[in-house]
Amino acid sequence: MPSKKNGKTRRKPTNAYTRFFDAQKSLPVRRESVYVLSKQQRQEQEQQQSRQIKLLPDCRPHAKGRPVWPPRNDVDHFMVVTEDHTQSGQQQQQLSSGAPQLSSGAPQLDAICYDVMREPLPPIHMEGTDIVPTIRGTRLSICAEHTHFPLVSRIARSMGFQQVPEHRLWNVQWTDCTPHHDLLRGMKRFQQINHFPGMMEICRKDLLSRNLNRMLKMYPGDYRIFPKTWLMPTDAYDVATYASKHKRTYILKPYSSGRGRGIWITPDLKTVSKREKLICQTYIERPLLIDGFKFDLRVYTLITSVDPLRIFVYNEGLARFATHKYVAPTLGNSHNVYMHLTNYSLNRRNSNYNVGEGADGGSKRKLSAFNKWLLEHSYDVAEFWASVDDAIIKTIISAWPVLKHNYHVCFPRHDKIQGCFQLLGFDILVDWKLKPYILEVNHTPSLSADELVDKEVKRALIRDTLNLLTTALVDKEQIIRDDRFEHRTRLLRKVYQNKRGMPQGTPGSFPSPGREAGGCETPMAQACSIGALAQQIAWEESHLGNYRRIMPPMDSDRVNYYCKFYDQTKHQTLFANTESSRRREQLAHKAMQRQYREKRQQEVLKQRKQQDPLLTISPVVLQSRRRKEEFEAQRCKHRALIAREIYRQRELLLAPTCAKEHLGIWQSVVKIPKMEERPRVRVVRCTSGVCRPLRRKQLRNVSRRVRQQREMEREAREDTRFVEQHAMKQSPPCQGGTSQQSVAKKRSRSQTLICRSMDKWAPGTISDGEQQEHSIWLQERTKQLNGSNLREMIFSKMYQQGHLTKNDIKRFPDLLFHMLSTGVPTADTP
Ligand code: ADP
Repeated sequence: MPSKKNGKTRRKPTNAYTRFFDAQKSLPVRRESVYVLSKQQRQEQEQQQSRQIKLLPDCRPHAKGRPVWPPRNDVDHFMVVTEDHTQSGQQQQQLSSGAPQLSSGAPQLDAICYDVMREPLPPIHMEGTDIVPTIRGTRLSICAEHTHFPLVSRIARSMGFQQVPEHRLWNVQWTDCTPHHDLLRGMKRFQQINHFPGMMEICRKDLLSRNLNRMLKMYPGDYRIFPKTWLMPTDAYDVATYASKHKRTYILKPYSSGRGRGIWITPDLKTVSKREKLICQTYIERPLLIDGFKFDLRVYTLITSVDPLRIFVYNEGLARFATHKYVAPTLGNSHNVYMHLTNYSLNRRNSNYNVGEGADGGSKRKLSAFNKWLLEHSYDVAEFWASVDDAIIKTIISAWPVLKHNYHVCFPRHDKIQGCFQLLGFDILVDWKLKPYILEVNHTPSLSADELVDKEVKRALIRDTLNLLTTALVDKEQIIRDDRFEHRTRLLRKVYQNKRGMPQGTPGSFPSPGREAGGCETPMAQACSIGALAQQIAWEESHLGNYRRIMPPMDSDRVNYYCKFYDQTKHQTLFANTESSRRREQLAHKAMQRQYREKRQQEVLKQRKQQDPLLTISPVVLQSRRRKEEFEAQRCKHRALIAREIYRQRELLLAPTCAKEHLGIWQSVVKIPKMEERPRVRVVRCTSGVCRPLRRKQLRNVSRRVRQQREMEREAREDTRFVEQHAMKQSPPCQGGTSQQSVAKKRSRSQTLICRSMDKWAPGTISDGEQQEHSIWLQERTKQLNGSNLREMIFSKMYQQGHLTKNDIKRFPDLLFHMLSTGVPTADTP
């Protein structure tokens, strides 16, 4: 919105902008066309000194300490940009005749050039550096709300930019973060922002290495501009293979951190976690050293347009030094970050940090000081910087398809000036052969001015960057008016169509500049018209400041050389190397590895079989054997458990108790029979324990013996009863007997009975025959009792009480027999 204030703004009489437009106005034809002025005519005009634009054939920067660039006297033409490239017939005739008598002070033009890319332009230096960007009464504005570098707004203010908040219609926005897609889409045609969408393709370490690796695969001879890099964990196999063949030191960096955070050096990749997301790079072990210190270069690069690609490199920059003298990495020193890393944020914490104010000896020096050192040590400075420029161009070209695509998607209507510019900070390491390596690209290089050297470099950098922008070439008010008109037209068209009932886009309806005839918006409009582009080129060439243009290169051979890299999408589709394709590749790789491993195993097995005949046994047999062994082991375990339980029960049973004593079991159990008296139970083993008929026989024996035992008990009871009855009639003293205790018991009981029946009964005498008969009977009975297998009775008792199962008896008859016969547990029992 044009404000009333703007009308009151005092217009400075002379400055670069007014001079530029005055020069254009003084041309004989209408503005915004591209003309070429021959060298001969230029010289004539220079002699006449009747021009307002002064051409300087020598573009050599005159400030001390700057690198020297060759003068460009060989350029044959100079291009002038005017407003419109459609000429009236009369004017064209006038131009082509070659003898126009121009009005006083106007340059003579002899041809029209549309192909602006093919014409290398000599840099023009316009007099005056006190630029105050006030054109046509409108003051340029900048929004620096989202940058934490105060130097930007300070310099912009000093240049006459007005500071505005984000919601106002700013001309330039300088921000530290990547702008959101919505912000980009909503930008007006006169606005510019300091980030290109998609620049992360080279500003994130992982994406950069992916892009450079892709380009290296396509152009192996050209892209050796960065150290060998792998992405972990995806490339873990490749790096392991490489490490097995080459003894190198590696540097590991997190994907997207900065300032040296999380970086470490190791010669042994086995220590690296297989799952961590890291960049693994070969460590450059022999860097170029100055005074024994390692250093890297911060080279500031400005991209003003991506289609066509225009890149400028700032001649001044910083060399950042480590603060410990460099020694090749060993196990002892690899943790020393002050020796191996050159980050300013790390090294400033070291007490050795030297604030040298940009002069020789400081930990941060200017590039001009570095150039001086190179010259002193007889290095070819121009060649070195040419290789740096080459590496920078190649790095940016690796992301060019994405940059171009994203730009056209986000800025389809930016037809007057470029919607973006980007100041990048390239970190470059130089090795002992003076070969530059791209380490990293910073999308927001630090513009803080901590030291004097920073101030000297960065102030000029910001000023020259803002100068180089073509912001001033657009008429903000005019664009706002045009946009309003267009908007109104669109609305009116709708109303008109609704009234008439006409479909959209029918002939006779109002045309819309941003729309096609069919009514749909042009998705990929040509961003800048040739005229606008030519204006931009002319502006940039005349406002280089301390920048040098590296893309398009000055040399036409180099132009052709770089052309092949623009064709990268022809060899491969743009997104061919996506995550999924990489995953597929990995899976294929893994499958191949597995196949190879299996094949190898089979071969080894074959070899072993040939050596060892045992291995010829079929694997099925081997497996059944293994199963059998396992089963046997389990069986043993179970056996041991049961044996332990039986032993415990036996102990319990054999413990003397009153009940047992009463039954008369105790005596027979305590009296361990001799070995020869043991019942001989024949045990025939078969694979599954005892054979069935024998088992049945044994069981039958057991039950028979139990029956016998019961019979004998019953007899014993009857005997007792008989003795008692007999004692009532006769009271002979019981002699002998099964045992002394029972005899004593019986005697005492018979005595009581005798005492009770004393009054009715008179004792008689026992004859010797009777006595003898009784003693014989007792002897026989004792013999029979001794002969019976009481241990088996115990066993049957255990079985009855549930301490033994049928299964146990079936499975371990030999064990039970052994225990019962010997009274000691087997080897299995603990
Ligand atoms: P950051 O973004 O954390 O600064 P860099 O990639 O810039 O990470 O690396 C930090 C420092 O580590 C560099 O300044 C450089 O001194 C050193 N460095 C990085 N990569 C290598 C390498 N491949 N060989 C030798 N030194 C390296």
